[in-house]
Amino acid sequence: MQLGLPFVDDSRAPTRESSIAPTGAETVEPTSVSRIGPTADSSIAPTSGSSIYFVRHRRARRYLLRVEHDGRLRVTIPRGGSKREADAFVHRHTDWVARQRARLRSSAFGSEERTALRARARTELPPRLLEIAAEHGLTVTAVSIRNQRTRWGSCGPDGTISLNWRLVLMPPAVRDYVLIHELMHLKRLDHSPAYWKLVAAACPEYRESRQWLRINGPALR
Ligand SMILES: [Zn+2]
Repeated sequence: MQLGLPFVDDSRAPTRESSIAPTGAETVEPTSVSRIGPTADSSIAPTSGSSIYFVRHRRARRYLLRVEHDGRLRVTIPRGGSKREADAFVHRHTDWVARQRARLRSSAFGSEERTALRARARTELPPRLLEIAAEHGLTVTAVSIRNQRTRWGSCGPDGTISLNWRLVLMPPAVRDYVLIHELMHLKRLDHSPAYWKLVAAACPEYRESRQWLRINGPALR
């Protein structure tokens, strides 16, 4: 389970969010894992130009697709999987891939700009997150910077926090609110009144920040 902070945060009422929403996910997974036996096919080469590439991942349990921020499609082949199966998997998800690429192109930022901003996010956001975590005696297992299309951040039950690179475009107070929002999920993985009390205690001005996100958030896409 993972709890995300959506671009439009309507979580006033206590709600229990479950897994990653399909619209915000950067990867797709097959509904059933099709495992096939060991294969002689170990040559991983791009099929059509450089817009697609394959990686083998011993720990992957299923085929995964991911459209990189430069538009390339990364296909993860699980242990025991084959290039042929991977090709078939890509084929079944061509619509999804096209949609992801279309969304990339419709972004408010050019690809070079996005790359630069992501690099900045990787440098700036994790130290700030850990700094605030330390102030509250919280332990973050791992931080990742992502290109979520519909959320500012998310927190998993294992203590991992994912942050949207767009946070570097926000006023520091708003950015800190998002970081605090995710950090407080380490204490409570819900949006209950008790959870919001924790947020208010750590970030008294959080309502202004939420308002800022509602108004300005969509333009950051
Ligand atoms: Zn939340």
